[in-house]
Amino acid sequence: MNKLHIVSNRLPFSINNDENGDFCLAPSVGGLATGMNSVYKDFNGKWIGWPGVASDSRTKKEINKIESLFEEEGCVSVQLSGEEIEQFYEGFCNNTIWPLFHYFAQYVDFHPEFWEAYVNVNQKFADKTLEVIEDGDYVWVHDYQLMLVPEMLKKKKPNITVGFFLHIPFPSYEVFRILPWRNNILGGLLGADLIGFHTYDYERHFLSSVRRLFGYEISFNEIHIDARIVIADAFPMGIDYKKFEDASLKINQTPLKERSEIHRELEKYFLMDPDKKLILSIDRLDYSKGIPNRLHAFERLLANHPEYRGKVTLVMLAVPSRNNVVHYQRLKSEVDELVGGINGLYGNINYTPIWYFYRSLPFHNLVELYSMSDVALITPVRDGMNLVAKEYIASRVNQTGVMILSEMAGVMKEMGEAIIINPNDEEEMESAIIQALEMDEVEQKKRVTAIQERLKRYDVYKWAKDFVGALNRVNRIQKDFLAKKVTPAIEKNIVKRFTTASKRAIFLDYDGTLKGFENDPKGVHPDEELESIIDSLTRNERNIVTIISGRDKETLGKWFKDKSVNLICEHGVWLKRLGDEWEMMTNVSNSWMPMIRPVLESYVDRTPGSFLEEKNYSLVWHYRGAEAELGELRAKELRDELTGLVANHNLEIMEGNKVVEVKTGGINKGAAANSFLVNMNADFILAMGDDWTDEYLFRELPESAVSIKVGIKHTSAVYKIDTVKTVRSFLKRLAKN
Ligand code: UDP
Repeated sequence: MNKLHIVSNRLPFSINNDENGDFCLAPSVGGLATGMNSVYKDFNGKWIGWPGVASDSRTKKEINKIESLFEEEGCVSVQLSGEEIEQFYEGFCNNTIWPLFHYFAQYVDFHPEFWEAYVNVNQKFADKTLEVIEDGDYVWVHDYQLMLVPEMLKKKKPNITVGFFLHIPFPSYEVFRILPWRNNILGGLLGADLIGFHTYDYERHFLSSVRRLFGYEISFNEIHIDARIVIADAFPMGIDYKKFEDASLKINQTPLKERSEIHRELEKYFLMDPDKKLILSIDRLDYSKGIPNRLHAFERLLANHPEYRGKVTLVMLAVPSRNNVVHYQRLKSEVDELVGGINGLYGNINYTPIWYFYRSLPFHNLVELYSMSDVALITPVRDGMNLVAKEYIASRVNQTGVMILSEMAGVMKEMGEAIIINPNDEEEMESAIIQALEMDEVEQKKRVTAIQERLKRYDVYKWAKDFVGALNRVNRIQKDFLAKKVTPAIEKNIVKRFTTASKRAIFLDYDGTLKGFENDPKGVHPDEELESIIDSLTRNERNIVTIISGRDKETLGKWFKDKSVNLICEHGVWLKRLGDEWEMMTNVSNSWMPMIRPVLESYVDRTPGSFLEEKNYSLVWHYRGAEAELGELRAKELRDELTGLVANHNLEIMEGNKVVEVKTGGINKGAAANSFLVNMNADFILAMGDDWTDEYLFRELPESAVSIKVGIKHTSAVYKIDTVKTVRSFLKRLAKN
């Protein structure tokens, strides 16, 4: 495989001082660093990111020294000034995107200068990346700080494969649309070939925004953008399971006197009364984590159930975070006050209800807390994943312990065995705490074991490997397209065959091939450029041009009245040879129409923006003008409803581009074209079309035919061309010969 590079806001080392006071690097221990370390070095790539110090806070010499230390570790530094960090990171990332994507719309700052900084800094990351990557490389971009980078990379280097992973939630369209720069963000992300989310819900929200804002065609999780396919998928990020498991096993075996101070304190607590219980709460002090709600629920427990006073302690670790942002400062005061109040009201000389630590703890102490706590109380009001929940479960090596988990955390999707709560329902949380405290060991073990098996399998290494595997697959899809693409060499060959042929049958589909789609199909008549292409082709009498379309004969008859072309309409019901009258290819009936029409009409009534088109031998429900998701949903419903109806009437349901069409069975473009070819003696056949009705044509024409699909989707055509624009220039070049 080619090289794989990582781009993330921070590089995976922090800068420390060694014993001589010189700079040195300490590896980060976070999940991302662990997972990525397992892939980027194996694939010989670089890690591009910010080293963690403002470039104008140090001397040039110091910055150079830091850069070269990072270079030794395969890292490329993106230098950011103090002002850039303030406006880009603290500004747009933490004051705009973070609150918005966590549904705290009331905290969002919409400052154009923050946005400007976001664009500029993203460009800096992209430029640095472009300096080190080569054609064919893979690049994996991480998180909400760098959502514009994929597009910036692809613009300059289209021949790379770009993956993007969002580590926070992607909000519902109704929330995302609030952002003035929503289209730029989506466009930025869509530069990637693969976009990963923690959960299917975030993926769904993203696809919905793409559909509504850009109207791209989406089938399952594939977004079709001209000649590209972008895939969105869910990859729930795992943890380094073994690391937590091993550390916890080791702690259990450590003699008392060698244990850490925290550990000894906890032991003392249990020694006083072995029936005592510890509830654990760990998070960054962030408004998304639901800390006040949790404290209120704990207070309710003590207020309503005096029997737990003195028996239950909440160990609350709040890691300082973004404390220069006003909302975080206010939260800190609120939490301080709540803890003070509860401890004042329910504590006494022998009992402190809440042990509150406002600090971070090293790994070893964290695992001690995980392994000593009977209950984990994890109640974010919104959380992309929540790794603490996974770490707690991995550290429960004797399989006891109870997890109380918010339904708003991404991790909940993998932890159905936890006690699931709504973090805004304090009464429910209070009951959940009681249920957890009273749960017997057999039940605890059953639940913990089930989650452990899952987390063990899908750890951070598997997560990273899966994502890279998916990148490979999407790369293959793009390559499949390229394999069939009409390259200059292939075109030269086609032109050669065309030039030497004495009679050339040319079948051209209309919508999506010669002409792009528009909301109103009535308005898509040929433009000047198209007319001149047709004229120049038909000027040569060796070219027998046939427009082969699903459209009705009246429309095509009118549009091509003055052109020297044959027409095949309604997918093959009607045929008009140049100079002749309309003839019906086979004897078809439309006596079924009165039965089917009311069904389609009911869909028009219930789907604003959709309409019914009545052709001679088919009925078409168009939903391009309808709200995209509603249209898709109704199309599915309609198909189901029609399936039962058409079975007994030799009818066929055809699904084109944003249309559902019911027509008499047994008629298709392939059969029509073939019967047209009889006695023609063509020694060169060209067929071009874009949707699946054209697949009949591609499949049924003789093997020697040059069949060309417009678009990237799977096809039985021999070749592919990306867009209508390319079709037109291809035909112009053919006409010249
Ligand atoms: N963590 C830590 N030291 C602490 C508290 C937490 O290293 O004192 C780590 C914890 O092990 C976890 C991460 O911080 O891996 C928090 O990740 P999570 O997904 O729970 O929340 P986030 O802070 O990313 O929103």
